[in-house]
Amino acid sequence: MLNLTLRQLRVFESVARHRSFTRAAEELHLTQPAVSMQIKQLEDNLGAVLFEQVGKRIFLTEAGREMYAYSRAVDQQLAEAEHVLEDLKGMRRGQLVIAVASTANYFAPRLLAAFNRRYEAVTVSLDVTNREGLLHHLEQNDVDMVIMGLPPEGMDLEAEAFMENPLVVIAPPDHRLAGERDIPMEELQKETFIIREPGSGTRIAVERFFKEQGAELSTGMEMSSNEAIKQAVQAGLGLGIVSLHTLELELEMERLVVLDARPFPILRHWYVVHRKGKRLSPVAQAFKDFVREEAKGLPVARLNAG
Ligand code: PGA
Repeated sequence: MLNLTLRQLRVFESVARHRSFTRAAEELHLTQPAVSMQIKQLEDNLGAVLFEQVGKRIFLTEAGREMYAYSRAVDQQLAEAEHVLEDLKGMRRGQLVIAVASTANYFAPRLLAAFNRRYEAVTVSLDVTNREGLLHHLEQNDVDMVIMGLPPEGMDLEAEAFMENPLVVIAPPDHRLAGERDIPMEELQKETFIIREPGSGTRIAVERFFKEQGAELSTGMEMSSNEAIKQAVQAGLGLGIVSLHTLELELEMERLVVLDARPFPILRHWYVVHRKGKRLSPVAQAFKDFVREEAKGLPVARLNAG
């Protein structure tokens, strides 16, 4: 049996996560010598060196990396125990940690604001990232829940679709195809598209769609945010394909138009996703129910009929 204390493990987890004694000390409200002391004692107890210093930076040794995986597992188990106990007490207080796709960030804050009004004692932490970043969160199991486009296959996940997510073709209002009806794929093939970065769910969906249509996608610049793509399209650098939900403002201000291209929109959905079998905290469960209920009423941009 290893001889170590939970306190040492906590301190170690924090230092390893921040790769910094100073930041760990801040997080844990300890002095830096106290943090160093805990790590030293832990290393003595384990008979292994956990960190090495190269210049000003610290790195985990191989033993440190192994220990880090275990310390996080212990942390998660303890957090789970806390959730179960909260659950038993029927508390609705706590923390909600979620990550959303950059595209979902156009409605997620409103959803969270509404949630926060109902559950005032809940603190929310939100990470906005692309699909690849979200998959990383799911792998690490370090968030309560993720809001994303199509969840990946081959990972043990629970995913529930809660809203449509149409991807549309955007152009500047003075584009030759603006105002045309029923634009065929052959016309789109003559255009250059500004696309998202590798790792974006939007990009994967667009590439797959063109392939299914047997069409060639000619790409110009590559950009890592929806905002950048919208700006570039307005500036006349090419066409873009984005979620309709990112467009509310630009459509209202008539800075961009949605082209009436025949095979579009690409019909996708938004999903709430977490690891299968994950024991949701009462707050996380409340949020999942909330998303399910509220999604229909969200004021997102919709396609005009006609
Ligand atoms: P992304 O988000 O394009 O920012 O990755 C959309 C998605 O996950 O489908």
